[in-house]
Amino acid sequence: HFKPFVYTKNVETICPYCGVGCTINLKVMDNKITDVYSTEGNVNDNLLCVKGRFAHDFVSSEDRLTTPLIRKNGILEEASWDEAISLIAEKLKEAKADGPQAVAGLSSARCTNEDNYVFQKFMRVVGGTNNVDHCARLCHASTVAGLAQSFGSGAMTNSIEEIDIMDVMFVTGTNTTETHPVIGAKIKQRQQNGGALIVAEPRRIELAKYADVYLQIKPGTNVPLFNGMMRAILDAGLEDKAFIDKRTEGYEAFKEFMDTLTVEGCAEICGVDSEDIRKAAILFATKETGGIFYSMGVTQHKTGTDGVMSTANLAMLTGKIGREGCGVNPLRGQNNVQGACDMGALPGDLPGYQKTANPEVVEKFEKAWNAKIPDNLGKTVTEIIDGVGEEIIKFLYIMGENPVVSDPNTNHVRAALEKSNFLVVQDIFLTETTEFADVVLPAFVYAEKDGTFTNTERRIQLLRKAVEAPGISKNDWEIIGLIAKKMGVEGFDFTSDDEIMDEIASVTPSYAGVSLERLRNGDRIQWPCLSKDSEGARFLHAEKFTRGLGAFKIADYIPPEDQADEEYPLILMTGRILQHYHSRTMTMRTPGIQEIAGDAFVEINPMTAKAYGIEQGDFIKVTSPRGVVSAKARFNEGIMETNLFMPFHYGETGANYLTGGQLDPVAKIPPFKVVKAKICKEL
Ligand code: SF4
Repeated sequence: HFKPFVYTKNVETICPYCGVGCTINLKVMDNKITDVYSTEGNVNDNLLCVKGRFAHDFVSSEDRLTTPLIRKNGILEEASWDEAISLIAEKLKEAKADGPQAVAGLSSARCTNEDNYVFQKFMRVVGGTNNVDHCARLCHASTVAGLAQSFGSGAMTNSIEEIDIMDVMFVTGTNTTETHPVIGAKIKQRQQNGGALIVAEPRRIELAKYADVYLQIKPGTNVPLFNGMMRAILDAGLEDKAFIDKRTEGYEAFKEFMDTLTVEGCAEICGVDSEDIRKAAILFATKETGGIFYSMGVTQHKTGTDGVMSTANLAMLTGKIGREGCGVNPLRGQNNVQGACDMGALPGDLPGYQKTANPEVVEKFEKAWNAKIPDNLGKTVTEIIDGVGEEIIKFLYIMGENPVVSDPNTNHVRAALEKSNFLVVQDIFLTETTEFADVVLPAFVYAEKDGTFTNTERRIQLLRKAVEAPGISKNDWEIIGLIAKKMGVEGFDFTSDDEIMDEIASVTPSYAGVSLERLRNGDRIQWPCLSKDSEGARFLHAEKFTRGLGAFKIADYIPPEDQADEEYPLILMTGRILQHYHSRTMTMRTPGIQEIAGDAFVEINPMTAKAYGIEQGDFIKVTSPRGVVSAKARFNEGIMETNLFMPFHYGETGANYLTGGQLDPVAKIPPFKVVKAKICKEL
């Protein structure tokens, strides 16, 4: 009775989870992914984490959306594409009559470059608005804003493979082994092969075990940490004077500011020993090559842009930028968050970070798109949600995002969406956000698509369709094209991802040499790729910075808005864990993952727990000025007694009920890492 196990297909594509962008091979039988493996020669060198290897059951889940849905009498009912598209077009026309501020869209870092390009073009050309943004606003908006000011472009300056030649790695504000597991593994490998490692994190993360110096800084003290390290470097005369003279500007004013600081003063704010700051600084400055790696522990603060500019200051002060193995490396979160930014799904940026405020840029795009487009600065994610709640935004189109779980201050988001006039959600499952939708549109997942993702190291990588999509769902860009057509607008009648990428290349200088054909032929491309015979840049800023000279920027310490006080004596940090991705819509559909990480938890130091009479596994009620949630206690001796940690993935028990507060004034990123809180044992 033996039936041979025959795969009908073996398709190479890209992991749909994090920004590392691992290549995966999908084995397919009967239109189902039956196994996933990886091969050598890609960014991941045969490595995969638990998500990339196992979390693909969602593709063939019975919960997948298969048909459009329209809300009638409060209930989402099945509808035809014709009905859904007609209703959306009618409502968009109505909203547009109130002016461009009445229309907004949230694009998706989960979707392809091609989807994002078409989405932002739709919002600008058909919607007539720059109110288009996506969840990069919540993770690395401060990177885009900060590195653009310091260097002229906001992206990882090195390639992942350069980790192998770094003499020193400075990891801060990132729990890399959990959030970018393959990069975390490469950092560990490099450390085992002789690379020095500095880790600065409020939680004693796994990488701290391998570190030459570990600095357990207080949450929200990145800026004084960087300043303290730079002060120590100046005290030791270890600044790279030749690099500073030749490649930078603004140094004199910066140096004057630094002269007002002491290492001891900075160390006191950070809550660490000044000698450890000196040790870390001298280790970083004296090695020939070195890279800084950071993520949301640096960016998600009201001073996120200052933190990012401080990483750039440190790299320039030590001449560790613009050379092989030297650079500043923001680890981008989602699979295509880099690409969604590159494609102009941002309120002030057209594709390739060409500014809506520049009349020449606007004129160029009007010519290319044969349409009038707005030249103002649109609204950001949090401003869009506010605008819906204030009933200024009358039409909101959300593609592949779940802001009810991922945005700060869930109670506020829910109250705003409750008031929404008309909400379209395009997704692969019903989510917490579709509870508020008037129309839900079923879209393809990564395994049903061609197109491209751009990973954290600026590498544009090819997706290949492996399985057929369920029901009558459609590709994201195709759906957008149907709405544009119904609105009577031309320029959206694309028939393939190739055509869309060709249009992207024609208007985006950093993608000018990119085509899907080149990628199919095996070319490996990292932007900026200025011509068809270029593979782009392995590292950035070699001869000069994108802005010409690198700019030293003064960043003084500004305390976080939330400070522990009598009523709220603890500080909660939020973050991600290895097994889950974002609001879990994909990862929670793999039973094995649910078994090991099915429930929300609150990490607490055992001493703190003892003081509150809390045992491991007890439910803890956590209250902040914005909300209250309850989750199981998980002891962690590596967290300070004054701190708590919660992952944000879990809908009803999600940490974002507790977050919110003052935005970074430049990047408009919310503070997710410093939340004052009180706890009690849930009885
Ligand atoms: Fe996927 Fe990131 Fe894991 Fe690689 S490291 S397999 S890209 S989730």
